[in-house]
Amino acid sequence: ATPSALLAGTGRGAQLGTVIRGAQALEKASKIDTIVLDKTGTLTTGTMAVLAVEAADGVTESRLLAVAAAVEAGSEHPIARAVVAHARAAGVDEVEADGFRIVAGHGVTASVRIDGHTGDALVGNSRLVTNAPAAGGDVVGSEVLVSLAGTYLGRIVVGDELKPGAAAAISRLRELGLRPVLLTGDNRAAAEKVAAEAGITDISADVLPQGKAQVVADLQAQGRNVAMVGDGVNDAAALARADLGIAMGQGTDAAIAASDITLMRDDLASVVDAVRLSRATDRTIK
Ligand code: ADP
Ligand code: MG
Repeated sequence: ATPSALLAGTGRGAQLGTVIRGAQALEKASKIDTIVLDKTGTLTTGTMAVLAVEAADGVTESRLLAVAAAVEAGSEHPIARAVVAHARAAGVDEVEADGFRIVAGHGVTASVRIDGHTGDALVGNSRLVTNAPAAGGDVVGSEVLVSLAGTYLGRIVVGDELKPGAAAAISRLRELGLRPVLLTGDNRAAAEKVAAEAGITDISADVLPQGKAQVVADLQAQGRNVAMVGDGVNDAAALARADLGIAMGQGTDAAIAASDITLMRDDLASVVDAVRLSRATDRTIK
């Protein structure tokens, strides 16, 4: 590899809106055959909104929202922001909570004081709230299940949208011979909905944060050369494990630090540019 060709490649990358860490990254990128993409914040905007509120029998919607928002106030997760904003907009009474505990890949717990009683509240997915009835509604999204002192209060469905240009980027990555895989900690139905919109058929859903790197390792064990695209703290280990880690520019510091390439624009088209550039640079070198 001639240093000048690699330098020209990294310089061109900067023009295209990517920061490439080390010339080696371009060589690695040219060999990639599989591209694993995180869902929330990578394929989708990451800005969640509440799509549906389904209170359990005998529970008011405002009680469900009040408990959920009080607990989610202790989290910075995009799901938490959506729940808190929705409750505030709905004018729900504020409820006291303390002793917040974030359970990665599950949700949040806290001690909540409501109507003169104090109880432990759980707010998260079915791994955390294990006594929720199976989803009955037809609204597909991330489910936020709520329980207080062991009693199920209901569910809040939240979701975000595919980024504009995501489907076009996936189809161009396919044209370049790459196999896209969607990777998420979210439930299968939510994952399938986004995958269908993006044009992806390979899905790993319900993956715990610590399991994401294992999904990458499993693909590598099958002989694949894997790029991983992500934005979250929970993507960092998988980004580091991948043959090529690509962080979204608006992503967390942990994701950026673990990656070979950082996209300056919040746009998956930059991934296509980076792969094409790496292949062109590789040809110049050889
Ligand atoms: P992703 O892979 O979609 O970025 P995370 O690993 O952050 O997801 O979270 C995985 C799942 O854990 C979420 O889809 C959600 O079901 C649950 N979860 C995590 N944090 C929260 C929270 N603050 N409130 C409710 N659910 C949460
Ligand atoms: Mg994410």
